Amino acid sequence: MSWGSGKGRICHEKASCEDHGSLEKPLKTESRNCLRCFRPKEHCYCSMIQAVDTGIKFVILMHPWEAYKQRTGTGRLTSLSLTDSEIIIDKTFDQNRRFRELLDSQQYHPMVLYPGKDASTAGAYDFKASLQGKKLLVFLIDATWVMARKMMYRSPVLQNLPRLSFDQSYISRFHIKTQPAEYCLSTIESTYYLIKELQACGIGFKDTSIEGLMQVFDELNRFQMECRNQRFSENAQKKGSP
Ligand SMILES: [Zn+2]
Repeated sequence: MSWGSGKGRICHEKASCEDHGSLEKPLKTESRNCLRCFRPKEHCYCSMIQAVDTGIKFVILMHPWEAYKQRTGTGRLTSLSLTDSEIIIDKTFDQNRRFRELLDSQQYHPMVLYPGKDASTAGAYDFKASLQGKKLLVFLIDATWVMARKMMYRSPVLQNLPRLSFDQSYISRFHIKTQPAEYCLSTIESTYYLIKELQACGIGFKDTSIEGLMQVFDELNRFQMECRNQRFSENAQKKGSP
């Protein structure tokens, strides 16, 4: 799912009640969902998604709840939209084999998108030099705000990674969630704005268009709003009937 950040702050949008399921059982509708984008098969987004190479590696650290329960999460859509990206599903990461492998690779300069007083931004004067010619690897924590904090607390290696934040503040366009504050962004929005800032500072491929990320996000918004309106009118009809 998705959390985002304003300048120096990160939080998670609070899912509305209907998005939360029981934590004991896997998604009942799993077989009705596309196994790639996890959307209902009749509303599969795969044909809309054209993955692009941004020259930056993104790794989405996804809490299992987000992976299997959250129906309106954007982490998976984010990963599908970026060629050099992957998802690691776990509750803690320090012992995760793939996480460790990525950290040990000499190919990357790993950072985590998370606020903190020492967090860097793309626009910092020495940011590009700090990459030392390596490819930037951004870990994105995909969980509710409470879960994200726990994931950090329980993963000291992750907690101590250099942090990345935003140069500017952004307002979420996610209409289908109750946001704790308007500066909270979904994962796909966070990624979009971060890439924009990095591209503007000459990091990654500046000519790669990432508008597809927002297009698929807008479509998700549109579809969920449609479902919500339909539910409202059905409920109104039930109340109105004798
Ligand atoms: Zn699909």
